[in-house]
Parts: sequence; structure tokens; C-alpha cells
Amino acid sequence: MKIAIVGAGLVGRVLALNLVRETGHEITLFDEDSAYGDLPAGMTAAGMLASFAELETAESVIFETGQRSVALWPALLEQLGIADAFQFKGSIITAHPQDLSELDHFINTLKSKVKEASTITLLDKAGIMDLEPDLQQHSQAFYIPQEGQVDAQRFMQTSAGYLLSHHRVFWRQNTKVHRVSNGLIGYHDKEENYDWVFDARGLGAQEDFEYLRGVRGEVFWLDAPEVNISRPTRMLHPRYKIYIVPRPNNRYIIGATEIESEDKSPMSVRSSLELLSAVYSMHSGFAEARIIKTMTNCRPTLKDNLPAIVQGEKLTRINGLYRHGYLLAPAVVEEALHGGIYQ
Ligand SMILES: Cc1cc2nc3c(=O)[nH]c(=O)nc-3n(C[C@H](O)[C@H](O)[C@H](O)COP(=O)(O)OP(=O)(O)OC[C@H]3O[C@@H](n4cnc5c(N)ncnc54)[C@H](O)[C@@H]3O)c2cc1C
Repeated sequence: MKIAIVGAGLVGRVLALNLVRETGHEITLFDEDSAYGDLPAGMTAAGMLASFAELETAESVIFETGQRSVALWPALLEQLGIADAFQFKGSIITAHPQDLSELDHFINTLKSKVKEASTITLLDKAGIMDLEPDLQQHSQAFYIPQEGQVDAQRFMQTSAGYLLSHHRVFWRQNTKVHRVSNGLIGYHDKEENYDWVFDARGLGAQEDFEYLRGVRGEVFWLDAPEVNISRPTRMLHPRYKIYIVPRPNNRYIIGATEIESEDKSPMSVRSSLELLSAVYSMHSGFAEARIIKTMTNCRPTLKDNLPAIVQGEKLTRINGLYRHGYLLAPAVVEEALHGGIYQ
């Protein structure tokens, strides 16, 4: 079969990797960006696989789909030769002493949604010392053993190289597609027919998804030689919640704001003050950290904040992965392939 995937962001790449592994089809990827560009939200993401912690605001279907994705990620990363981009040694949730009621609220919400939340352990100071000595100033924290992260930027970069050099993949970079319909795509002045078309344009598919909106998110990248945190760590706070996601060599992603806006312009002063004050209050070693960069992008989000798969003749559309793209993409793609082209 000749297959077109429109949008080579996170979903488009997960689709392509599955198709080259499981079928002999010929795949053409289209993206308005270059293969190594920064346009996809998948390039901005922290890559957290937080199926439990996300339940604070998400529905239990996110948990179930997330659990399936966690099982599928290792094979995808092995396919790319970067098995170590998957880290699964748990995450930490903490709060300042004056906000400890946030921790109670958090665990009660999770327990009301899934029974598996009973595996989450409350750590006292000694428990925190054992797992993450750098967080010892905190008196209480939750440890969620079955959470982790994918190194999102490594996934995006390595998948670009892998797919660009694959003999059954053609990547049309810097090509904006203006029409995506049943077995047909339109770009520049041309229309091309395919045996199957996948629409994975994220926020770029607004014409074809009612109520598709962008939710702005901003992150800092910091170099912090004085900080040694090894697991994704969240701080609960009544007004702003932040996370710290460790990357190799004492580099940390600090995120993320969540603003109902499709503005992708650089980070605002307000957001930078909130994120940096919060991270400094978590660990004073961040005072001497160096700001490597800031990144802003928009999460493609549907009305109910849930992902959607729309199947048509010779056409599958996947969208709405919102703040859970890494947590959901492998399982959502699996479901989309089995409900469409593999039928
Ligand atoms: C700040 C931030 C932090 C995040 N952190 C996490 C996290 O920790 N864990 C997690 O699970 N998720 C996280 N996410 C969410 C995740 O990044 C998204 O859910 C995911 O990237 C959505 O994937 P997608 O493929 O649908 O969209 P994208 O990754 O945005 O890809 C869409 C692609 O389509 C292309 N495109 C659009 N229109 C066209 C067109 N007309 N023609 C050609 N190409 C087009 C774009 O260039 C892009 O490459 C975060 C997101 C943000 C913004």
C-alpha cells in the first residue's frame, strides 16, 4: 500500500515506526517543518509518563490508555536503538509545609478514580532521604513507583534520522498540506491519491476537527550542577503546579504553564517568575543554575480534553492528545491501526 501521514510530530512518527515495523507498506510523511525542527509540540514536551499523577485532573481512561503505552514504549525505543531513553523508576510528588493539604487532596482524588492508586507510598523525611536526598528539605512526599519518562527530544531526533534513512519512507519536509481527505491529500498546487491517509497534524487540523484548540505551555531548560534529582518531581501548590524533569548531566526541564491560548510567542515575564520562583523554592541549588533556553508550544486539545480517533474510508484522523501525548501516543496509535487500516 501507498500510505500518507500528514504531520510528522509525535503521533505521525509513532505511526510511521509502527507501520515500517509491522507492514511492508510505502510511507510518505508530510510536514510543514523540517525533520529536526521545533514546530511539533512533541519537541517541547517533557515526556513524562505520569498515568497516576495526571489523574488529578484527567479521567480514568487516560490512566488505562497510559498504562498500555508504558508497555509499548520500550519496543519503539529499541527499534530506534535508544532503549535508555525510557526511564521508569517512579516519580515524586511533594508540597511545601504550608500546602500539605494539597497532598491529601491529590491522593484522595487519585484513589477515588483508580484502585491501583493504593500502591502509592507516602514518604516521610527518612524515606525522601533514601530516594532523593536532594529533596530532604521536604517533610512529606508521595512516591509513585509506576511512572517515568521518555526523553522526548532524543525520541524526536533519533526517529527523524531513522525514518529519513528508511528505504520505505519518503519525508516531504517543509511542505504544508492544505487538504486531507479520504485517500487524498492536497499540497502546493497538487493533489495526490493514496491507499490510506493518516491525519496527524495536531493543532494544524483545526479545519477538520470541531472544537480543536491550543493550550499554551511554557518550559525552561536549566543546567543545574548543584542539583541532583533523578526522578520526575512535581510540586503541588494552590495556584501553580510545577514539575522538574531530569535529563542527563544535571540538566532539568522545568514546566509547564497551562494557558488557554493559541499564542506560541516566547515565554511571558509572569510565567518565568512563577516557574523560576517555584523551582528555587524547591531546591536552593537552582539559584546558580544557568538558563539554557525557554520553549513555548500549544497542546492540541479537544472539547473534552480526551484523544479522538476518527475512521473514514481510506482515512484515519488522530488528535486531541492534549498534555498527554507521550503518555498516550503508542496506545492510541495501536488502537487506530487496528480499528482502521489493519481491519
Ligand atoms: C510544554 C509542553 C509540555 C508537554 N509535556 C508532556 C509530557 O510531559 N508528557 C506527555 O505525555 N505529553 C506532554 N505534552 C503533550 C505532547 O507534546 C502533545 O500531546 C503531542 O505532541 C501531540 O502530538 P501530535 O502529533 O498530535 O502533535 P504535534 O507533536 O504538534 O505534531 C503535529 C505535526 O503536524 C505538523 N503540521 C501541522 N499542520 C500541518 C500541515 N497543514 N501540513 C503539514 N504538517 C502540518 C506540525 O508541523 C507538527 O510537526 C506537552 C506539551 C507541551 C506543549
